[in-house]
Amino acid sequence: MACSKETFINHGVKICPSLETQGRGLFTTRSFKNGETIIEEQPLFSCQFSWNYAYGYSACDFCMRPLETAEENARRLTAKPDLILPHTECDGTDKSFHVICSKCAVTYCSVECKDQAWNQYHKTICCNMLGGNPNHPVEKLNEAWKKMHYPPETSTIMLLVRILANFIQRSDREELKGQLMSLCHHTVNEEETIAHKLLGQEFESQLELLRDLSTKALGMPETNEFLTPQGFRSLIALIGRNGQGIGTSAFSVWVRKVSENEIDPTTDALIDTIYQEMETESGDFLNNEGSALFAIQSAVNHSCEPNCVSTFPFSNHTVALVASKDIEENEEVFISYLDECALSRSRHSRRKILEENYLFHCNCSRCQLEADEPDMTSEDEESMEDD
Ligand SMILES: [Zn+2]
Ligand SMILES: [Zn+2]
Ligand SMILES: [Zn+2]
Repeated sequence: MACSKETFINHGVKICPSLETQGRGLFTTRSFKNGETIIEEQPLFSCQFSWNYAYGYSACDFCMRPLETAEENARRLTAKPDLILPHTECDGTDKSFHVICSKCAVTYCSVECKDQAWNQYHKTICCNMLGGNPNHPVEKLNEAWKKMHYPPETSTIMLLVRILANFIQRSDREELKGQLMSLCHHTVNEEETIAHKLLGQEFESQLELLRDLSTKALGMPETNEFLTPQGFRSLIALIGRNGQGIGTSAFSVWVRKVSENEIDPTTDALIDTIYQEMETESGDFLNNEGSALFAIQSAVNHSCEPNCVSTFPFSNHTVALVASKDIEENEEVFISYLDECALSRSRHSRRKILEENYLFHCNCSRCQLEADEPDMTSEDEESMEDD
């Protein structure tokens, strides 16, 4: 499978027109073995979700690495302040590297993260007040967003804030514009559907409010084109459609490291108990959660029969694309946008979820193979769809 019009080449992969979809796709330029990492990529921008932050989930303000120790994390999520974790040598959090912004006290996992944040966007949006400033225009925008977008969170306006602040700060604006344009290929109708999904019924008035508050916070000659009604709606659609979820957790880093060693039955039982107690106390909300925009990763198309998975091997915002099968040279790589459970459902159900959430009609090899299946769902699926 050769492909014409290569648009991007990077260590073993290239972006070019996809053979399975209307848009672009990611292709290999050499073969990869099952389990091999194809690319690791830093996001263009990432940001923790607003409610997640407000509820005390503690992550580096730049890279989302957990800032709590595993023990602190387990204590908070189980609401058991006396809980003791053994094997402290397996704790991935080293607070001696943590640094704060001297002006507003947001915390970073390292001086490198603090410097990168400052140089990319924080210089523009730092509220210059220790502990935060509720009257700062960026904070007013964040509060308005939180009232429109309650958990479970899927995006955050603060990602858009970082993009605009970077646009003000950087010298090579055309480069960023090119990167954003390559992510931003929606029709007006699609943008409306995405905005509707993000903001609910009153999305038009809410979009206008967000645009007004964004203009007060970051309206400059450099950002004007993004703050017109059309420009702003495109940006919202961009973060809504391309934002990839990130979850980090100090406790799961500890569990992984403990499990890499010979695990004793007592620790094994303790881990089970803690997970049960976390679920009782905190439900599904165990991770520091956020969203990121990736230039290369975002070109990877969905297949119901994927040959890759995305992982976050460093417990921060760096994504890795890992082969889950042997892959030939010049093959398109696919991940699944559906979780395990949804992926095991019928063709009809899978396509319905993809159409509703990702606005495309899946025509992957598996969907083609199952094309003769009747468009019916199992009883189980029907009851889920009625919810
Ligand atoms: Zn960091
Ligand atoms: Zn600051
Ligand atoms: Zn499919």
